[in-house]
Parts: sequence; C-alpha cells; structure tokens
Amino acid sequence: MELEKILFTYFGYQTFKTGQKEVISSLLGGNHTIAMLPTGTGKSLCYQLPGYCLDGQILIISPLLSLMQDQVEQLMKFGEKRVIALNSFLDSDKRGYVLRNLSKFKYIFVSPEMLSLPAIMKKLQALTISLFVVDEAHCISQWGYDFRPDYSKLGDFRKKLGNPLTLALTATATKKVREDIIQSLDLEEYNKIDSTIDRPNISFYVEEVPNYHDKQSRLLEIVLQFQKPGIIYFSSKKVAEQMASLLIEKGIKRTMAYHGGLDQEQRILIQQQFIHGQLDVICATSAFGMGVNKENIRFIIHYHMPMQIESYLQEIGRAGRDGEESIAILLYSPGDEQLPIQLAEGELPSELQIDWLFSHLVNSKIPNDSFLEDNQYLREQGGFSEVQWRIIQDLIKNTQGSSNHEQVKHKIKEFVNERLKVKKESIKFMKKWIKSKSCRRELILEYFEEGAVKESVRNCCDICGIHFDQYQATEGEQTNHLIEGMWKDYLTNILLNSELSK
Ligand code: ADP
Repeated sequence: MELEKILFTYFGYQTFKTGQKEVISSLLGGNHTIAMLPTGTGKSLCYQLPGYCLDGQILIISPLLSLMQDQVEQLMKFGEKRVIALNSFLDSDKRGYVLRNLSKFKYIFVSPEMLSLPAIMKKLQALTISLFVVDEAHCISQWGYDFRPDYSKLGDFRKKLGNPLTLALTATATKKVREDIIQSLDLEEYNKIDSTIDRPNISFYVEEVPNYHDKQSRLLEIVLQFQKPGIIYFSSKKVAEQMASLLIEKGIKRTMAYHGGLDQEQRILIQQQFIHGQLDVICATSAFGMGVNKENIRFIIHYHMPMQIESYLQEIGRAGRDGEESIAILLYSPGDEQLPIQLAEGELPSELQIDWLFSHLVNSKIPNDSFLEDNQYLREQGGFSEVQWRIIQDLIKNTQGSSNHEQVKHKIKEFVNERLKVKKESIKFMKKWIKSKSCRRELILEYFEEGAVKESVRNCCDICGIHFDQYQATEGEQTNHLIEGMWKDYLTNILLNSELSK
C-alpha cells in the first residue's frame, strides 16, 4: 500500500510532515536511520507507521517515564491497543502477565534500566524485533546536554537482540553528538536524515534589563502587552509560584504555576486546562512541556538564563506549532549566568562528597547498586540530592568490573569533572548568544553546523529587526486585564483603609 494511504488509514492524516516520509522510506528500505527532526514535527510517527508495514515488534527505548506514558497514550488514541510500557509503573502481577504475553504486543516501550534486567532481555530475545528505536538518542552521548549513563549500554543491548534495524531519533544534536550516537549503537551503514533545527515562524527577542529586580515589572508589561497563550520558564519553583501570584494579582487571572513539586493530579489538571484554552499563561519550570501538543502558543518567555541552547530550543519549539508568527523572549540581567552555573554544579556530586562516600566504604566490598540502594542513610548523611545519588549509582553500576576502590573513585571524579566542563561550555555559549551583536538565528544554525538561514525570515530577531505589532494583544484584551488589576488594587485599598480606621 502507498505510504500516504497507510498514513490516512491508521492515523487520519492527509500528508506527511517534513522529514517523516524520508525517515519511514529509509527504514522500510531496510536502512538503519538516524533522524534529527525538530520538536513537535511528529517524530513518533516515524516508528508508529512502520509498525503497520513490518512483521514483528517495534521496541522503543525512551528515557523518561512521563514521555513513555504520553507516547503510549498517543498510540492508544489512534485505536492501537497492542501497546505496552515496561517500566517501574507496572506492578509485579501486571508485569508477570505482560511478560508471559509479550508477543501479543506490537509496540513495546522500555526504559534502559528495564533492558538491563536479564529476565526482560531474555523475553525480548525470544521475539522478532523488527525495529529498535532509540528515542531522545542524544542521551547516549557524553557530549550531549542530557547524557544518561543508562543509555551508554544501548549498543550492547542492541547486539544482544541480534542487531535489529535501528532508528535513532533526536530533536537537537550537534555533529559531534550525532557521531557519538552512531558509534555507540555500532551502526556501520546508515542513512542520516536531518531536518533543519530552524523554526522561521518563531522570532528571537533578547532584552537586557538593568538588574534582576527590574525584570519583574518588565515581565508584567510584556505579558500584558503580548498575545496569549504563552509559557514563562523559570529555573526555580519558588520564583515560578511567586510570579504566577503576581500576574494573577495584576489581573492576568488565567495564570497557573506548574513544576515538579506539584502532585501528579494537579499537574495533569493544569496541563489539560492549558491545552483546552482555559488558561492563558503558565509559569513553569522545565518540568512543563513534554507531551504538551498545543498548537497556538504565541510566546515563550525565559525569565532565567537557560543552561544550554539545546534545551532552550526544545522549550521555545513549543510555540507556533500552528505555523503562525510567535515570539521567544529572553530577559537577561547582568550576572544571570551565576544561577545556571550553580545549578550545573549542584546536579553533580562534589569532590568532597565523593571522598566522603568512599571514606565510608573503606572496609566494605566494592559497592554495587543494591549496596547503595540499601544505604539510604549514606545518601542523607553525605547530603546527596536525588540526582547526585542516581549519578553515583549509575557510575558504580558501570564500573562493577573494577575491584579497586581508588580506581572507582577516580573514574567517578573524572566523569564529574568532564560533565561539569561540558556544562560550563554550554553556559558560555548561551551567554555569547545573549550578548551577540549579529543575527541570533545565524548563530544557532552555525552551532548546529547547518550553514546560513535558508529563507528570508520576516521577524528574525531583535538584531535583524522585529515588527512587534504582530504579537501585540488587542487593546481590548490589554485594558481588560488592567481594569481587573486596578479594580483589585482599589478594593484592596478600601479593605486596608477600613482595617486601619478600626
Ligand atoms: P515530537 O516530534 O515532539 O515527538 P510528536 O510525535 O509527539 O512530536 O507529534 C506532535 C503532534 O503532531 C502529535 O499531536 C501528532 O499526532 C501530530 N502529527 C504527527 N504527524 C502528523 C502528520 N503527518 N500530520 C498531522 N499531524 C501530525
């Protein structure tokens, strides 16, 4: 059957989005494929559709439970029931049932941790895996901004599964990272399909405010002035909460804060309200966005400086999926780079913590992962955050061949220093981008080695010039918010005065 017919029959879409048909044709031609497609362009379809053309199972390795859940739901919405996610959400009864009946599922999502369990691998080896998909493949690379030690074993797992046809998918990867992906997966021959990272309907606007304090009032002005809906990203849960309260107080009532500190139910509710147009503004941390397929987001504002251009592009890529003009605004005040540096350092265990941990292990055998799991008190005493502890656990898992404490400690330190160097380089590039006196779009394309901007962009960036009228909220919308804000201030004053006169 023609690919367009399959697309319409199973997914109801008339046409392919950029890059999809090339990737699918490459796979169906029997070629390993590495594809870089920008966020929101429908990467999932590149493995969903081949499922209806290939016998056997499609195995998808996905780094995040929430992402996996979202992908499972996406397939179910299309009416596909033969989908399962093998992850820690499955209770042991359900897991037993699933493993006994694994061959009945067509799409099997799995976390890399699960793949490393021999029992799971054995079950998968008994199947015919017709496509091995590595989603968010940049997590394989030590040079990637989101390296996951668990991902580094995917090459071995692939071999154990008999070197099946492979698809590596990513939205943002430099040339170096892509080379690393190919090497890790041991793909001798492959097709490379790159769609441009550029989103011409999103313009870049960086504004330098004199100090951090002034940012608050500037943010308020911008949010009042610009067309909504929009997302404002913060690096701190507390500031996201505070700013959401301030916006509500000033009359932008349909605002909510969203971050990892909220419970699951609240998060789902806020996400749904935003998707269905019941909220105008979300004050979010990076926890918000994955799986938010909302077409008409008009602005993305960054209140704090992002840690790297890759995650920045992922976040702004949530704007303008309907193809309409949208704007990415970044507010910078001198010294803002300190926060990402602190955050980068805080994500990794310090030398002091590593020394401390190993001094407590002197008399024990070489630790293994279960040793660390059984020793939560070590985590607490050493002041390790959850992320730091996971890094230590992963690294220890990876060095279990070694029988020497000093060697293991050295390897961990080496890794931490290397990661920190990569992260600091990324922050440096981000700052260079913010301070740039030449086209911001060009600089991004240069970073990803894409060459010049391909088409003339009407509203490119603040350096090339932006027609702001395009993004303005109508006067009516602005006055409504202001009147509501003023009305509230007026009522508060009356209440205060009556309290004082008592
Ligand atoms: P991402 O590239 O961010 O992983 P997804 O795979 O989640 O994107 O797809 C984004 C949205 O685009 C989804 O709602 C999906 O159903 C939709 N989509 C995918 N392919 C097409 C297509 N050919 N035509 C229209 N919509 C599509």
